[in-house]
Amino acid sequence: MKYIDIHSHLHDEPFDHDRMEVLGRMRDESLGTITVGTGLVSSRKAVALAEKEADIWASIGVHPNDDPCEEFDMGAFTGLASNPNVVAIGECGFDFFKTDKDMDYERQRILFEQHLVLAEKTGLPLMLHVRDAYEETLEVLGTCKGNLKGNVHFFAGDISIAKRFLDIGFTCSFTGVISFTRDYDDIVRYIPDDMIHAETDAPYVTPVPYRGKRNEPAYVKFVAERIGEIKAWKPEYQEKTLLQNATRVFLKNIE
Ligand SMILES: [Zn+2]
Repeated sequence: MKYIDIHSHLHDEPFDHDRMEVLGRMRDESLGTITVGTGLVSSRKAVALAEKEADIWASIGVHPNDDPCEEFDMGAFTGLASNPNVVAIGECGFDFFKTDKDMDYERQRILFEQHLVLAEKTGLPLMLHVRDAYEETLEVLGTCKGNLKGNVHFFAGDISIAKRFLDIGFTCSFTGVISFTRDYDDIVRYIPDDMIHAETDAPYVTPVPYRGKRNEPAYVKFVAERIGEIKAWKPEYQEKTLLQNATRVFLKNIE
């Protein structure tokens, strides 16, 4: 395997009609992916897909506000987490882009804290979704006594925010966004080589040269190449480093 798209939604409905072809293109590039659940039903689908396909793993959790009515079913998620194909808890965190902080903070905090309990219980890393809420997320993580680790998916903060996550052992991942803006070049350059990941967040945020089309895990190579270009990495070093990072954070108990 060359490297791993550490965050996609390959189990989701936009891939229902041609999932095997998408998988085929991913395999042609020698890539794997972590498919990320956004609720209990979605997490079950993610795990089912990961059970079936050797180069797919699952992350399970409830997105902060995809469905503001979904509560965290600790019993069901604890059961799911015992599946050996589950490699992370999330995506979870805070999102005050889609819902108002004044209205929704308390609900999102309680939901997030339940993910932290599960992560601690299972020893699995967190897959954080944070939008317009870095301070709130860091504050809650700061109150945790356990040794929580994980990754900040779709990192869109500045260098000082990145530093605070790095200081508590969290990696940062970048999407196709870095292929069409230079806004994150300085942050990508700043993040230590062993603390960065490439992801697609497929079917969303498709990188150049497929911008505007549906995204898929095979396109993580464009994100990885862009990270390599920004960091002035040699191609072999880029592949080795990104694969090592993904393996260390998410797949250390696999194989
Ligand atoms: Zn996602």
